[in-house]
Formats: sequence, C-alpha cells, structure tokens
Amino acid sequence: MEMEEKVLFPGKAWGSDVSSGDFLILPGYIDFTSDQVDLTSALTKKITLKTPLVSSPMDTVTEANMAIAMALMGGIGIIHHNCTPEFQAKQVRRVKKYEQGFITDPVVMSPRDRVRDVFEAKARHGFCGIPITDTGTLGGKLVGIISSRDIDFLTQEEHNLPLAEVMTRREDLVVAPAGVTLKEANEILQRSKKGKLPIVNEDAQLVAIIARTDLKKNRDYPLASKDSKKQLLCGAAIGTHEDDKYRLDLLVQAGVDAVVLDSSQGNSVFQIRMIKHVKEKYPDLQVIGGNVVTAAQAKNLIDAGVDALRVGMGSGSICITQEAAPKIPPDFSSLSPKLPTTILGSFMLAVGRPQATAVYKVAEYARRFAVPVIADGGIQTVGHIAKALALGASTVMMGSLLAATSEAPGEYFFADGLRLKKYRGMGSVDAMDKHLGSQSRYFSESDKIKVAQGVSGAVQDKGSIQKFLPYLIAGIQHGCQDIGAKSLTQLRAMMYSGELKFEKRTLCAQLEGGVHGLHSYEKRLF
Ligand code: IMP
Repeated sequence: MEMEEKVLFPGKAWGSDVSSGDFLILPGYIDFTSDQVDLTSALTKKITLKTPLVSSPMDTVTEANMAIAMALMGGIGIIHHNCTPEFQAKQVRRVKKYEQGFITDPVVMSPRDRVRDVFEAKARHGFCGIPITDTGTLGGKLVGIISSRDIDFLTQEEHNLPLAEVMTRREDLVVAPAGVTLKEANEILQRSKKGKLPIVNEDAQLVAIIARTDLKKNRDYPLASKDSKKQLLCGAAIGTHEDDKYRLDLLVQAGVDAVVLDSSQGNSVFQIRMIKHVKEKYPDLQVIGGNVVTAAQAKNLIDAGVDALRVGMGSGSICITQEAAPKIPPDFSSLSPKLPTTILGSFMLAVGRPQATAVYKVAEYARRFAVPVIADGGIQTVGHIAKALALGASTVMMGSLLAATSEAPGEYFFADGLRLKKYRGMGSVDAMDKHLGSQSRYFSESDKIKVAQGVSGAVQDKGSIQKFLPYLIAGIQHGCQDIGAKSLTQLRAMMYSGELKFEKRTLCAQLEGGVHGLHSYEKRLF
C-alpha cells in the first residue's frame, strides 16, 4: 500500500495548530556516527553556541551556579531578574570572573561563630572545611580553617564554643598567593595533603579557596561558551520599565553578553522602546526580544532591532496563561477589586499558541532577517528539543527540565520520601509576591489587580547538570543521526527544502509510542 507522507508544517497540511506531542519526524539515511553530529547553533546574530541549550531566567532555575554550568557545557544561562539589580549584576560578575577550580564565593565564618553553626552549614551544604576570617566574609583577613577533624569529637556542650577556640590557626595552614595557577595550586594541595587550599592576597585577605574534591573532578570543557577574553558567556533578563535602564547599566558593567527582554507578550510599545534604548546605548550588546508566537509580533521586534527572538506563550510547564476561563462567575463586576489574586488566577487568559506551530511560524519568518529563534517552554524530553530544532529553532530554553538540579537555586527538601526542590512560574503569586522583576513580566504598569499566570510547585532531584546536560547533548545527536542530519544547520536546511517529513501522531499512535504492556518498569534515562 502506498502511503502519502503528510507534510505537516511547510505545507500547512492540517490546518489547525499543533503542539509537539502531535507529530513525529520520519527517519532518514545514516552514514555517520552520532558523536559526529555538530550541534553548533546561533543564540543571537552575534553569539554562537556549541550546544543549543539555554536555561530560563527564572528564580528557581538560573543564578550564577546554573549559568556557569550551562556555559561550561557549551550552552548559556540567563540570570533571572526577580531580585535587586545589584544582586543580579553580582551573579553575572561571578559567571564572568569564573575560573575553573577556584571557588570565589565560599562559605566563610568568623572566629565568633559557634561550632553548632558549622554543623548546620555542613547539613545545608554537605561539606566542611570552612575558612575563618576576622570579618566572617570573603575579603576579610584569613585567621584559620575549621574542618571535620577539628569538631567531630566535641561533646554536645562544646558545640557552643566559639570557633576561635577549636579552629586550625592561620600559622598552621598551607595557603597559596592570589594569581596562582590551577596547576600550581594542585601541586601545593597534593603536597599539603589538606582538603582545602585558601588563596590569599598580599594583605592576607581571603580571595578564594580550592577544594581537593573539585580538583579530582576537574575536567576539560571543550564545548565551553566563551567571549574573546576567554570568560564564560552569560545572559541576564530585564523588564521594560523605566527603572530597568538602571538594571541594564549595572549588568553591562558586570560584563553581560546578552539581555533578554522578559515579557510574556513581547509585542508592545514598552518592549520596542527598550530595544531601541539598549541598541542606542550599547550597540554591541545582544538583545533578545519576546515572547512572541506569531510572525506579526516578530515583525515589530525585528524592525526595532532585536538580535534573537524568544518564542512561546502558554506552553511552559508552570504556565496557566492559555487556559480559557472555565468558571467565570456570572456577575464578574460584582467582585471586589481586592479579590485575592489566587482566585483571579483561575480565570486565565485564553491567549497563546501551541508551541510547535509557534516555533515553525516565527522561525520561518525571522530567518529572512537572519534573526535566530529560541524555542521557550514545554521542553520535557530530549525528543521535544529535537522537534523544536527541526522546526527551525536555533536553541531551546528550559525551565522545569533544569529545575531541581544541584546547580538550580534553592535548597532540597524531603516530601513523601522524595528529595525535591521548588520550581515556580515567574507569574505565580508566590514569585510575584517578591515584588521585584517578575511583576514586570506579567503586569503592565497600570495593572491594579494581579492575575496569576503560573503555578508554584516542586520537582524531583535530578542530580548535577554536569551529568544531565551530556545526556541531553547525546540525545539530540542521536535524534539528528536518525533523521540523517549531520549538523543543526543541515537539519534546518532539510526542513525548509521539504526533505524532512513530519507525520501526524494519532492518539492511538501516541499510546503505542509509550511504554506499554508491562506490569512494572523502571525509567532510567542515563
Ligand atoms: P518549562 O521549560 O516548560 O518549565 O517552561 C519555562 C518557560 O515558561 C520560561 O522560560 C518562561 O517563558 C515561561 N514561564 C515562566 N514563568 C511562567 C509563568 O508563571 N507563567 C507562564 N509562563 C511562565
């Protein structure tokens, strides 16, 4: 029987919009190994990444630790702006100043802290070996170090002792001078047989530490995203309000490489004004506009000068923007304007677009102007990443997929026997209650009543990005291999030429494609 292969996107064969669960990509011909697949792709007009992965500017996803890990593995992290401009700029500076192996923001204590504080820090951070400075902060004069060996055998009463009485003192420590190379530091650590090596400047102030455990883990990052000065690349989000101009200035001073104008509906006079402002004041800074889901929205931002577009509205895992108002009370006007935001949140906005169509339509338009597209939201599996890239996106942005990794902000907690971390939408009441950047993404200036567009929840521990990202990278390479594309450039070319075929997936096909018929199974991904 001859079957016609339906061309889903280029030919618009199915009329209605589709999301990524609705279709599959047909396999092609393989004449190369999966590790030969080149994932190099443009983030913006001027920034190219070796790994097409971006971490979302959300306060439970991207701060410095996530951005460093993402850049080391060839992607990039966008620091969220639900914080003060100063805090955000500090996070960017940490990424830009990152030197492999050196911990430049260690936990530091003062000689006046107590032994019990060390046990608390150990429980929270999982390590001991804390440097002690006269001020209790980095930059103070180094006066000692406290490690397990100093406190393990102390009695309960002795847990009240000040650290000054039990720490290993400065005169008994091996230290290294600021400016030491990682190789030299490694040798000093090996000779000293200690767990931590404090780095001090000529005024005896602590500037960093090196941990033996980190050195053991040390490895090369051949894909790392770096600027011309060999510093890691870092992005940051800002809003479109007047006071975001001050935030922008601080971020630029900290060395930010790209700013994301963070709006859930980016086609606005406010965003267009901000794009023009950034381009006028900092012509070399890359500006990512959005979010958009139609070519008409994209046009305005491209005309204003954006260097990339973020695509997605209503597809995020924590998003409730699309849900149509199911339970609007008959007499809406009788509701007090003081209605709790949580109730209003359930009315939803009924605006958005299925992500696969949004990505295809915007990318197809934006490529005429060489503006790359970031597919943002709804990425739950490697397959979703491959589909987004096959539909024309140059990179993908992830929130939930990277949440609850050890590099994500926040601490783990246990519930129902599971180790979890918080993950919340930036338009959730929880995030907006912080009254900082996230309000500007989801409210316009005149909004008096908050309408929640996201939920707050938790995600199960995924371990470190250092293990998770290689899995995603290998998965995308395998997907491209099955398709017969040796690079992402080729993948996109195959799609636009019509060589790549997409096929609709019926509900039965979707069930057939999942694990079935087993009594039980364990799903380990890597
Ligand atoms: P995820 O990867 O599916 O979890 O989606 C992450 C994306 O959802 C982010 O990059 C934002 O574009 C979007 N997002 C973040 N917070 C909210 C929210 O509160 N409501 C709707 N969308 C959100």
